[in-house]
Amino acid sequence: MKKREIAALGFQKLESNLQCPICSADLNVVDSNRLVCVNRHSYDLAKQGYVNMLQKQVSSMYDQDLFDARYNIILVHNLYKIIHQKIADIINALPNENHLIFDAGSGEGSHLSSIIKLVDKDNTHGVGLDISKDGVLLASKNYSHENWVVGDLRHTPFKESSIDVILSYLSPANYEEFHRILKPNGILIKVIPGSKYLKEIREALAGDSQEYENTDTLELLRNKVDVISEERITYEVELDDSALKDLIKMTPLGWHVIQQEVRDFTETSSKIITVDLHIIQAQF
Ligand SMILES: [Zn+2]
Repeated sequence: MKKREIAALGFQKLESNLQCPICSADLNVVDSNRLVCVNRHSYDLAKQGYVNMLQKQVSSMYDQDLFDARYNIILVHNLYKIIHQKIADIINALPNENHLIFDAGSGEGSHLSSIIKLVDKDNTHGVGLDISKDGVLLASKNYSHENWVVGDLRHTPFKESSIDVILSYLSPANYEEFHRILKPNGILIKVIPGSKYLKEIREALAGDSQEYENTDTLELLRNKVDVISEERITYEVELDDSALKDLIKMTPLGWHVIQQEVRDFTETSSKIITVDLHIIQAQF
């Protein structure tokens, strides 16, 4: 089966949860190649299987290189394996068997796809949305089990109370929209950096030995949602030079530094890198 047909079947299963991001009318799959509402807003499925729902395309600082690096770090070097398992454990402990999991800011899709592989439920379906077409294109090329949308977090294509789990993984949140689309008993899983997250890169490249401050993000979160659980997970991994190059490419910390500093940092057989993340489970 072609990728577009597989994606059309996935969207068809989701139809009762979907709405037009422009007018909020019901959205239906037509001819296995597009999603259409009664007001004739139409969104084509690309041959790779994703659907583009952005009214205006945005240019993003996240390009193909960055997403390739992100794919390598997540899938090849397995940097977040422990975090993925923790998130899957949270989902596995939920009472229902049916779960619609929405990754808000899914990038090139590897977090969502990896987590869903670890979820032990009969009926789980994942949808990832990102504003970057490059990221979503890569996601749809690599992962056919999930559905992928280029879209705006402020106007997601979901009805009220339609999502069981929202994942917001090192990505900006839109709490109003999350509140609208999450089921009353649904949960938000938010991953935010801890103070020691990638500290070795910060120290080497930015000359910044101060700890990363995440108190603003945590405060905002606590004001917007009811925190059910919060776990801080800190571990060290040894990365080789090719992994270090990928890590620098995918992190905002690497964007503004001069090339020589990047070379100095990666010209080594390996380095210990600290991962320090908070996994927060919340409800509205
Ligand atoms: Zn419409």
